[in-house]
Amino acid sequence: MPSPTNLESVTEITWPDLPAAQQPEWPDAAALAKAQEILRGLPPLVFAGECDDLTIKLGQAALGKAFVLQGGDCAETFAANTADSIRARLKTILQMAIVLTYGASLPVVKIGRIAGQYGKPRSAGMETIDDVSLPSYRGDAVNGLEFTPESRIPDPMRLVQTYHASASTLNLVRAFTQGGYADLRQVHSWNQDFVSESAPGKRYEEVAGDIERAIAFMTACGADPEEFRRADVYASHEALLLDYEKPMTRIDSRSGKLYDVSGHFVWVGERTRELDGAHIDFVSKINNPIGVKLGPKSTPEIVLALMDQLNPGKIPGRLTFITRMGAGTIRDVLPGIIKTVQETDHPVVWMCDPMHGNTKEAASGHKTRLFDDVLDEVKGFFEVHRALGTHPGGIHIELTGDDVTECLGGVGGVAEADLPFRYETACDPRLNRVQSLDLAFQVADMLRAR
Ligand code: PEP
Ligand code: MN
Repeated sequence: MPSPTNLESVTEITWPDLPAAQQPEWPDAAALAKAQEILRGLPPLVFAGECDDLTIKLGQAALGKAFVLQGGDCAETFAANTADSIRARLKTILQMAIVLTYGASLPVVKIGRIAGQYGKPRSAGMETIDDVSLPSYRGDAVNGLEFTPESRIPDPMRLVQTYHASASTLNLVRAFTQGGYADLRQVHSWNQDFVSESAPGKRYEEVAGDIERAIAFMTACGADPEEFRRADVYASHEALLLDYEKPMTRIDSRSGKLYDVSGHFVWVGERTRELDGAHIDFVSKINNPIGVKLGPKSTPEIVLALMDQLNPGKIPGRLTFITRMGAGTIRDVLPGIIKTVQETDHPVVWMCDPMHGNTKEAASGHKTRLFDDVLDEVKGFFEVHRALGTHPGGIHIELTGDDVTECLGGVGGVAEADLPFRYETACDPRLNRVQSLDLAFQVADMLRAR
């Protein structure tokens, strides 16, 4: 376990007044101040020592010695914050991680988009349905998904609710992953229900059988490593709502450094990464491992400036670039970005988000993604890295543990006509568990051939 550390509540961290994109317009300043005061007084959700451990593990991915799997909801919701839903997401992540670890013989760093992913940037400030226009849904941390004027009013007490929902999720994640559920001897049990009958589920059974035999062999030889008994699954979310992240930022009494204790890893999204904006300034000051999304319009100049600003100490694992270019664009844009980084001695983790550049609208109006586009962007990511001799360090996936019908295709063959059956996301379409497992097998094959 990581070393414990003291994290003091600090009310007096001053932040410069910089432009911040995508922030809610809270109608009541006094209510916001009250919510922030409550947040400042609440205990940390994560420890600085855990964040440092994750930086070290991500550093291995920056150096080509590990692979990162980051996955979870586009938008968590308070309503779906149930034991069943959390366990199903964890099962998906654990099964994918097993497939990747076994297939590629590389350590897999596991990070959930979980326990804090409650704020969403939106391309339009207003949403119109049947001639009625209301403020867009900005995540459960801000307003309600229900399309009514009352529900769409930003309510700062939702920030406090976000903290409590995240605390209960993280508590269960820690219990599951440290308390026996993630024990490698359980590999078979993660493959129950609908997934076990699918082609990737059957392929998984074979892997699980191999692992079980290997463990039996090791046990017979007298080896019983502690690492087999638990898994480290870290919590991450987009550092979007600065009215939440700032009161959750504390000074670590050990080192005197700032840590955002709302999650282990936080990233800055494509819509908020202005070099002179408040989000980049915020993550430049915290010592958590951080990510920045890079879309198809990213330039070498932007990438150089981000590295200098965010990782001047050139610490491996501190900075992850999460590229999300789109399947049709990645092979053209990514090489220039990688070459720019190669000309410096900056260590970065290269992660591929094959979701956000591949969103389409189905004829029914559902926002969807084709499994084949997702797969093709990952393939392009591996091809480019292979050609340039750099390490494809990880994947960043929107997924769920349930049998939803949100993304099209894959072995389960979700068809356009299936979209309405289980379209449950509060924001972007997610891979279901069969599609996620299918993707993991294909990525494991790519890693092996690297
Ligand atoms: C997201 O990760 O949910 C997201 C909004 O991504 P991006 O900033 O890359 O669009
Ligand atoms: Mn999303």
